Amino acid sequence: MCYIMLGNWYRHIPNYLVNILIGVNILPTERRSLIMLFGATGDLATRKLYPAMLKLFEKGNIRDHFAVIGTSRYKFDDEKYREMVIKSVSKESTNKKQIADFASHFYFVTHNVTDLEHYSVLKNKANELDKKYELNGNRVFYISMAPNFFGTVAKNLKAQHLLSEGNGFNRLVIEKPFGRDFESAKQLNDDLSNAFEEDQIFRIDHYLGKEMIQNIEAIRFGNTIFEALWNNRYIDNIQVTLAEKLGVEERAGYYDNSGALRDMVQNHIMQIVSLLAMEQPVAFKDTDIRAEKVKALRSLRVYNVAEASSNFVRGQYAAVGNDKEYREEDGVPKDSNTETFVAGKLLFDNYRWSGTPFYIRTGKKLADKFTRVDVVFKKPLVDIFAFPQSGSAPLSANVLTIFIEPNQGFSLMVNAKNSEQGFHTEPVQLQYLEDSKRTRETPQPYERLIHDVLKGDGTNFASWPEVASAWKFVDQIRRVWDIQQPMFPNYIPGSMGPVSADELLARDHREWVYKLNK
Ligand code: NAP
Repeated sequence: MCYIMLGNWYRHIPNYLVNILIGVNILPTERRSLIMLFGATGDLATRKLYPAMLKLFEKGNIRDHFAVIGTSRYKFDDEKYREMVIKSVSKESTNKKQIADFASHFYFVTHNVTDLEHYSVLKNKANELDKKYELNGNRVFYISMAPNFFGTVAKNLKAQHLLSEGNGFNRLVIEKPFGRDFESAKQLNDDLSNAFEEDQIFRIDHYLGKEMIQNIEAIRFGNTIFEALWNNRYIDNIQVTLAEKLGVEERAGYYDNSGALRDMVQNHIMQIVSLLAMEQPVAFKDTDIRAEKVKALRSLRVYNVAEASSNFVRGQYAAVGNDKEYREEDGVPKDSNTETFVAGKLLFDNYRWSGTPFYIRTGKKLADKFTRVDVVFKKPLVDIFAFPQSGSAPLSANVLTIFIEPNQGFSLMVNAKNSEQGFHTEPVQLQYLEDSKRTRETPQPYERLIHDVLKGDGTNFASWPEVASAWKFVDQIRRVWDIQQPMFPNYIPGSMGPVSADELLARDHREWVYKLNK
């Protein structure tokens, strides 16, 4: 309680004091758990998961009562594994003693997930560490491996009795991609459901761990001035942009099988849209929030062929200077029709949103790397300042912009009188941006999400009904695109995508709020 009232002040106090405060219950409860990490030598584990766990350790969210069993086919012993963990977190802290303490909780078991015999070694190790660290039988199974292994691991965990049978919890964490269409996602979900209940499955969408994505609910439901107007009577349209500056880099092989629609729209964008579109939940807890997101997604119009063709556009980047076009990237077939850009219009057939479109866009090699949401309000019905002799420009729409990254904050564009002689209105921006120190101190997505898993809070994870609805929507677009021949490449790196993305809005007499000054 005290912790909630005092915020995160304890981040700035020395480690020995943190220990004392945990001892007298002033700091948040330490979460007891064994984390069994499959794919412990992989890219995600070393780049994101170990650093995130160190942050949790520094803050006392995990401390004495946690252990990690890392597994992969690699022939590591505990010592070598700990060296790897230390190396992967060395940029995060200069406190060598604390890092060594942290790493001492890590153990390695060489394990091929398809080999049943290996599971008994894992089980024995898990039981041993459960006793040693007094973990109360709590277990998190984190599968940081290619998705084709998710079902195998889940099935074997259950069949080989690795799930805790006492009062402890069993939680499964999986990474995207969750299927490549509705059918494959359903198959995967069926496989997981044989071993885990839905409320034990935590599907990571790291966008949901971002500070300003979580802030969408606070901005909407914490402010009468927004929530009262958050509907089709006052909002003209909502725009969501996830722009990347880089191309496919070394992920070309994976990316070419996926494309922007599957890689970004089905998961991150649909999650953001559902947070923007949902009704107010009964309470701010995972079951209520999920229920509202699912309801919103169920009223998203699934397009027929004609609607899919006219409401979605795609692009592939061309060459510029020394930069290759997409089809010339290493690992990409010369005739690839994979889209590196998508823009689309989403329509909700419900009372709140009917007639108010949500425009989305995402792509690689765009002008800059950023994520933002622009909520464009309707203009006043009557512009009383625009009589012919006034010389005043027409009123602008109020726009609420939520800056997700790299800047964190929001701005509100309002009309006001300028200070010159006469009466002329001009748009003025009210802006709040977190300073770089605060942004640096903000917990990173994986830190938040692992903490949520340990707490058993599913708010910021994608539930199966959400995933299923998103796939059903995206599959329709994909089906249409798969039978139409695109004109690729069709946009220049450094732009905001193909001209057709601007035309999509121009057709509706609208334009993107974020645009390049040409
Ligand atoms: P990765 O670098 O290829 O790592 C895969 C891991 O799985 C390695 O530790 C590998 O170790 C292990 N492994 C492979 N086959 C195995 C087997 N038969 N038995 C036991 N272990 C096996 O993959 P990653 O990039 O870390 O990605 C992991 C997951 O996160 C994937 O689902 C990916 O889509 C998702 N993801 C990754 C990122 C990212 O930034 N990397 C971002 C978002 C989502 P051995 O070869 O030694 O066995």
